[in-house]
Amino acid sequence: MLPSDRNWDKQAACKGQDTELFYPPQGAAGAQALGFCMRCSVREECLEWALERQEYGVWGGTTEFQRRAIRRARARQLA
Ligand code: SF4
Repeated sequence: MLPSDRNWDKQAACKGQDTELFYPPQGAAGAQALGFCMRCSVREECLEWALERQEYGVWGGTTEFQRRAIRRARARQLA
């Protein structure tokens, strides 16, 4: 599924949850949000969506910091 197709979010484990959980204060891990992600069937699609759009907060089972590391690693692979 292409990340540009947002239909995946209909199956999101976080659907209906408080979105503030997914935007923890700077430096906080967002453990409760990550718990939803760990049992989410669309985690991969969500992660690619967030990587593509440089979203902040918890997406696809990752924190913003972790996604920055993924983007850097991918950039190194392409270099
Ligand atoms: S991976 Fe996490 S943030 Fe993404 S849809 Fe699933 S529960 Fe929500």
